[in-house]
Formats: sequence, structure tokens, C-alpha cells
Amino acid sequence: MKIAIIGSGLAGATAAAGLAPRHDVTVFEKSRGTAGRMCTRRRQSAEGGEYAFDHGAQYFTIRGEKFARALAPLKDQGIVQRWDAPMVDMAATGATAPRQTEAYVACPGMTALAKSFLDGITVRHEVEIAAIRRDQQGWRLADKSGHDKGCFDRVITAIPAAQTMAIMPDDFAPKPRLGAVKMLACFTLMLGYDKPIDLPYGGAFVEGSPLGFIAVNSSKPGRKSGFSLVVQANNSWAEPRVEHDPDEINTIMRDELARLTGIDAAAAQLSSFHRWRYAATETPLGEAFCSDDAAGLYAIGDWCLKGRVEAAFDSATALLDHLHARD
Ligand SMILES: Cc1cc2nc3c(=O)[nH]c(=O)nc-3n(C[C@H](O)[C@H](O)[C@H](O)COP(=O)(O)OP(=O)(O)OC[C@H]3O[C@@H](n4cnc5c(N)ncnc54)[C@H](O)[C@@H]3O)c2cc1C
Repeated sequence: MKIAIIGSGLAGATAAAGLAPRHDVTVFEKSRGTAGRMCTRRRQSAEGGEYAFDHGAQYFTIRGEKFARALAPLKDQGIVQRWDAPMVDMAATGATAPRQTEAYVACPGMTALAKSFLDGITVRHEVEIAAIRRDQQGWRLADKSGHDKGCFDRVITAIPAAQTMAIMPDDFAPKPRLGAVKMLACFTLMLGYDKPIDLPYGGAFVEGSPLGFIAVNSSKPGRKSGFSLVVQANNSWAEPRVEHDPDEINTIMRDELARLTGIDAAAAQLSSFHRWRYAATETPLGEAFCSDDAAGLYAIGDWCLKGRVEAAFDSATALLDHLHARD
């Protein structure tokens, strides 16, 4: 069977890995890179310093049995490792208290997880699917310019809920339910320093601030580049400001970082900023996946269950179980 999967984040990558042994699978990804919100950005400063930032997901948990089983060989290969730097809760005053967190990361960057699942599978990068139309042979995909991207027996979208609604045809039975899903925005500030800053933590969960999480990205295992910080906005603070001037948001986040920690963003050798329109899930769908078996159309993603990496995997795995039982 010819199957198209739209989106190469962890949900799409998990579905692709599960279907590829028995089907002809093609993954379409609008970005240049793989892994969606688990991606890693690598940059060189004007001075030649090399920096890497996991600018989406910072870490993941491994709670479910299936996720643990899928990751076991990757742990053996060192692709999944424990991030055991100290974690803290940080109050709005900047005061910190230790926090117990069992955090895992992919190595050498978060991207490595989806990449390893997609090993040997056809991924067509820089193809943004804009339409899924029925024709005599099945579902015909088209990109933003209307160019034909092929015809498939089944289509699985693995993209945020609002984007799923935009491209799924109206005869996709679960479509009306997707409107109830609410996702929140985020902003990410990335800072690379030529000299390490001495901090007593690898990650800080911030309360009562425009900031939500401060990560010493270079404290994660397997990172070989320079000292790097990833500063995430608080999702509830970011959401109403998603269309604000990015320079204004960047300045607020830098000032807040200085107020909380004393870290001077202006001293960074490299600085970068990213806006996420759909980052976290406030209201999930409450069903592990969406299916229209009669049409051969399916939708998966973290937003079905919870805005976490493990939920993206669980959503895809639940769909795989459903399809394996049918086929
Ligand atoms: C800033 C931030 C911090 C986070 N922190 C954490 C954390 O610490 N721990 C945790 O567990 N989770 C965290 N998350 C959430 C986690 O990243 C997600 O739950 C998970 O990565 C979602 O995977 P997914 O496959 O469902 O979706 P995505 O990763 O969003 O994948 C969707 C993919 O589809 C592509 N795409 C979209 N539309 C199209 C189209 N029309 N055509 C082709 N391709 C398309 C996108 O480019 C993307 O690659 C964070 C997310 C963000 C943004």
C-alpha cells in the first residue's frame, strides 16, 4: 500500500518506522531538517565559535513501556542518554530550589531521535503539503504552489491540530472535533558564549515570569560545541503576544534573564531567536489518534494526548496498533 505521512516530527517518524517494513511509505516535511519540535539548530558565530541549540523540546521522559522498549536499542547505542545535570525550580525572585526530574535527551542533538527512526525511509524535505484531494486512484497531494506530489492509498497527517484542519479534506470524519484542541505559542532565545558561565544547574523551571525554562544546552550529554543557553518563554505569556514584534519580545526575555540570573545576553558571541506558533498543548483532543478508515485518512500528533514528546510517540503507536489490527 502507498502511504503518505505528512510531518517528520516524532509522531510522523514513529508512524513511518512502524509502517515501512510492510508498505511503500513517503514522508513529506516542509522544513529543511527532520524532527519538527525536537530539532537542533547549529550555528557558527562571526568569530568562528560553533554552537548547537535544541530550541524546541529540551528533554523527554520515558514512562510508558512501549516507549521504553523502542528506545532501549538507542540507549545502548548512546543515541538516548540521561541528562543528569542538576535541575532547579526558580521563583520569580530568581531564588532556586532543587528539583528531581528524570530527563532524557537524544544525542548529539534532539534531532537524532526522529532521524534514527527515519533511517532508510524516503523523506521529501522542503515540501509543504497544502491540499489532499480525492481522485480515482486515491488521495492526491499538492504543495503550496499546486504542484502534484503523488497519489496515495492512505494519508497520515502528523502535524499540529490547526494545520491538520487546514489541509484535511472536509470529508475527513473527525475534522469537526479538531477545533476543540488548543495549542499555545512559545518564543526561544538562544545564546552562545565563548567562555562557560558558572551556573549551579543544567535546567531551571521558572515560575511567575515571562520565562518558562532556562537550559544550559551544553550540559546535556554528547554536546561537543561551545557553551550554549536555551531560554524558553512561558507558554501562557507567549500566546497573547505571538504576533508582537519579535525584537520587542527578544528584549523582554533578555532583560528578564538578566533580572533572574544576572546573565548578560549582550555578552553572548552568538544570539538567535525563534517564534513557535504551535508549541504546547493546552487542551488536547483526548483520543490517541483520529481515524477515518473508510476514507483511509488519519491524524496523529502530541496534541491528541498531551503536549509532550512521549505523547507524540504514543499517538503514533496507537494508530499503528489500529492499522495492524485492520490489515
Ligand atoms: C519550545 C518548545 C519546548 C518544548 N519542550 C518540551 C520538553 O521539554 N519536553 C517534552 O516532552 N516536550 C516538549 N515540547 C513538545 C514536544 O516538542 C512535542 O510534543 C513533540 O515534539 C511533538 O511531535 P509531533 O511529531 O507531534 O509534532 P511536530 O514535532 O510539530 O512535527 C510536525 C512536523 O510537521 C511539519 N509540517 C507541518 N505542516 C506541514 C505540511 N503542511 N507539510 C509538510 N510538513 C509539515 C513540521 O515542519 C514538523 O516537522 C516542546 C515544544 C516546544 C515548541
